[in-house]
Amino acid sequence: MSFADLGLSDELLEAVSEAGYTEPTPIQAQAIPAVLMMKDLIGIAQTGTGKTASFVLPMIDVMAAGRRRALMPRSLILEPTRELAAQVAENFEKYGKNHDLKMALLIGGVQMGDQLKALNEGVDVLIATPGRLMDLFERGKIMLNGCELLVIDEADRMLDMGFIPDIEFICDKLPTTRQTMLFSATMPPVIKKLADKFLDNPKQIEVSRAGNTNKDITAFKVLVKPRQKRETLEWMLRNDHVETAIVFSNKKTTVRELNKTLQRNGFKSGEIHGDIDQSTRQQELERFKSGDINILVASDVAARGLDIKGVSHVFNYDTPWHPDDYVHRIGRTGRAGAKGRAFTFVTDADAEAIGNIEKLTGGEIKAFGKDDVRVELKDAPKGKSAKPKPAKSEDAEAKPDREDKPKRARAKKSDDKPRDDRPKKPRADKADKSGDTKPRRKYRDEDSEPVPAGEWNGPKPDFLGVGFD
Ligand code: ADP
Ligand code: MG
Repeated sequence: MSFADLGLSDELLEAVSEAGYTEPTPIQAQAIPAVLMMKDLIGIAQTGTGKTASFVLPMIDVMAAGRRRALMPRSLILEPTRELAAQVAENFEKYGKNHDLKMALLIGGVQMGDQLKALNEGVDVLIATPGRLMDLFERGKIMLNGCELLVIDEADRMLDMGFIPDIEFICDKLPTTRQTMLFSATMPPVIKKLADKFLDNPKQIEVSRAGNTNKDITAFKVLVKPRQKRETLEWMLRNDHVETAIVFSNKKTTVRELNKTLQRNGFKSGEIHGDIDQSTRQQELERFKSGDINILVASDVAARGLDIKGVSHVFNYDTPWHPDDYVHRIGRTGRAGAKGRAFTFVTDADAEAIGNIEKLTGGEIKAFGKDDVRVELKDAPKGKSAKPKPAKSEDAEAKPDREDKPKRARAKKSDDKPRDDRPKKPRADKADKSGDTKPRRKYRDEDSEPVPAGEWNGPKPDFLGVGFD
């Protein structure tokens, strides 16, 4: 299947091929013809499946016919965050370069002047976050009754962020005869209701069950004690062949503190979270994309759906509270065919959260252990030496991809060994006293596999002991 089979115009096909796409993704293949036929559409597909182009491309052709009018945008795309809105706008510019279409971006945190000016001159496509749009609407600066096409993108995220009432309000202001498309990674009941209310006989496309995570992502849980998290993260950042990583935390304060600590310890890191103003967020993102920094510490809101290519690692410094967030977070890596690794730090208090995640993703996530370590662990105690680690199959898959790419900014200090120079706390349940150096431990809940005896025989960073002692 090629893009040419989908009914898009020649101008558009040219722009697509210049963008470097050769084949439509499954959601694109199914959505594009339907949108061109002016059908309403529900698209359910996990993050990273190319949903943006699945509506942006046909929209450009649909919008090509018709005329703009001042203050009355002809189509509207709603995005939950400013970053996502900006990203969709970039897509529009890229694909719409051979069309005479005007686009405006209405997002909070930036000066309104230019946005209003654009609206006054008339726009074909308005890309907005609900907040800023409501604001302008209530001040009479915009009319929505000329809007014949509506896209509600990332609907499940809209729900998480409390935007559903705003969206209902906005939908009510649009003409009833219009084309509506709704995209979401998951379909919770509230979204289903929203779709029933505002979509007319929609074609439903589901490319892969919501909650399925990408096969190109190797995911692990890392069983840690809360106080080991930071040290564990730093060890992994230094030792897991990290090129670029996004580190997610559940709290803004943690994002801030963690970033400071990482910088202090020689890492090139930056941060994005909701308390940072728009232009700084954008700058941080640019620094990350350009390779100026290679670690981005982020909160969910700020990072949802961000399309950052070539992220080799995602770390969930905190187990996400909502299973959907897990899917979205780890979806930052393994994008568009590239391989990635995702690590989720799990403490005893996260038992329920990780359980829900595993339920959604349909299987237990492997606990990170000796066999998954990518470096040779040195300095074995009691004269034992760790064997050089044979390449694991997933490494073999993952590596060539990475090695092709130029090395991005790396941590200044990169000592290859775990920092075991400090005194270790004795562990109550240590099995050493029995003379057994390969202790085993049952992880806190029943459904976790106990680690087989004898699996661990070398020196290890403290955190690796958690799952094994
Ligand atoms: P989603 O909205 O489903 O999370 P995006 O639309 O952001 O996904 O696309 C994810 C990534 O895939 C982007 O980097 C995008 O450029 C890329 N992509 C989209 N469509 C294609 C395609 N047909 N071929 C190759 N890459 C694509
Ligand atoms: Mg998207």
